[in-house]
Amino acid sequence: MRILVVEDDRDLNRQLVSALEDAGYAVDRAFDGEEGHFLGDTEPYDAVVLDIGLPKKDGVAVLEEWRGAGRKMPVLILTARDRWSDKVQGFDAGADDYVAKPFHMEEVLARMRALLRRAAGHATSDLVCGPVRLDTKASRVVVDGNPVKLTSHEYRLLAYLMHHVGRVVSRTELVEHLYDQDFDRDSNTIEVFVGRLRKKLGVDMIQTVRGLGYLMTPPDAAELARKPAR
Ligand code: CA
Repeated sequence: MRILVVEDDRDLNRQLVSALEDAGYAVDRAFDGEEGHFLGDTEPYDAVVLDIGLPKKDGVAVLEEWRGAGRKMPVLILTARDRWSDKVQGFDAGADDYVAKPFHMEEVLARMRALLRRAAGHATSDLVCGPVRLDTKASRVVVDGNPVKLTSHEYRLLAYLMHHVGRVVSRTELVEHLYDQDFDRDSNTIEVFVGRLRKKLGVDMIQTVRGLGYLMTPPDAAELARKPAR
């Protein structure tokens, strides 16, 4: 999952980025409204953390422009504690949730998890697909109850596929959602990670759909999909 942080306070921006990266997300950052607007308009983020009080272009205007242009990613706004009007304007502009400053980083992380899973149509922080269970809160994975140790890249890949179970995900989409903009992107590495992930999970749940990408389905559904229709 790839997230954009738009916050002009340098310290706070850094803290948000490092907390989100530690939680397993690929993160891009912007320090003013214009830069933030441009990135959110051109890159496919899974969610955005957007400060309302920004130089060059304020957060409400940025959000209105994104929504006006049809950008649908979940947006968590950061508001000043005593500015109730920020929250009202923010929600009216298309915000999905807010956190008032000062805040605890844990709250931002919890709200982000909720936004991401709701956007993908899941109700709880545990994502389940057949024998695989991914706990987005603890960033842990178990298969048939046994913990599986994954690298951060493998975890990101599995988390993205688990958020989109039953849908074919292209290599390009994976590259765009697993890496931040500074990462040296090479879609061949995706194949390597998928191979390692298959081996570590030990169950055949990630299908390669030729020419299209990857499809994660529970083993039963995969079995059915392979059977010719009668
Ligand atoms: Ca600010």
